[in-house]
Amino acid sequence: MDGNSKISIFKFNLSEKKYVVKKIIIAIDGPAASGKSTTAKLVAAELGYLHIDTGAMYRAMALKVLRNNISVHDSKKVAELAKVTSVRLVSNGIKVKVVLDGVEVSEEIRLPEVTNNVSAVSTISEVRALMVNEQRAMGNEGGIVLEGRDIGTIVFPKAHLKIFMLANERERAERRKKELVAKGVDITIDDLVKEILERDRIDSEREVSPLRKADDAIELDTTKLTIEQQVEFIVAKAKKIISE
Ligand code: C5P
Repeated sequence: MDGNSKISIFKFNLSEKKYVVKKIIIAIDGPAASGKSTTAKLVAAELGYLHIDTGAMYRAMALKVLRNNISVHDSKKVAELAKVTSVRLVSNGIKVKVVLDGVEVSEEIRLPEVTNNVSAVSTISEVRALMVNEQRAMGNEGGIVLEGRDIGTIVFPKAHLKIFMLANERERAERRKKELVAKGVDITIDDLVKEILERDRIDSEREVSPLRKADDAIELDTTKLTIEQQVEFIVAKAKKIISE
């Protein structure tokens, strides 16, 4: 065997190894009800990655604040409460459970009362610091799809792939309505549009980590796309990065 062929074998092994071990971080951000959760879950399943719904963590914190009869606007008390609160996302390989102080709250965090109060709780910097630490610890190794509002800008500014999902508010309200009807919640499209826009307003105007598109994020308007198309778009981008 001459020197050249040795080199080429070495290169081959190296690139093969790189392909096998490369586990990227995918950040999906966007406004309320833009389809992030459904899409992120399917993208993660397709790639064999972990899916982290960071909004669920803020919702769990908001649930705790409400249960303790603390005003969501009392930032001092909410910050104190956050320090003695544990919010964990626990995966059993099929489903990710939201666990608040050791008890599953996956269903309760979707209640309208939580939805209407979560954005106020999410403006509090101490709450965000605790959640962001937890999210970084979960995502550091890669092989993860995180969705939220500040993943590409604050939590993982060096994420390998950043997507910013959008859809017009009517379409978002229609999608949310379908989910709520399935859960037996009755609410009009107009009320849903109001709720979605109000949440977007608070999330975009807050001082700490406001909702905004990272400069290097790819914008994906899903108004006229099917879920399959959204997933396909992101998976194709991810596979390209993984194989590079
Ligand atoms: O994603 P979801 O709509 O469940 O998020 C609920 C709320 O949690 C958002 O409206 C926002 O106030 C907050 N949130 C956040 N940062 C994230 C994810 C969610 O502030 N990364």
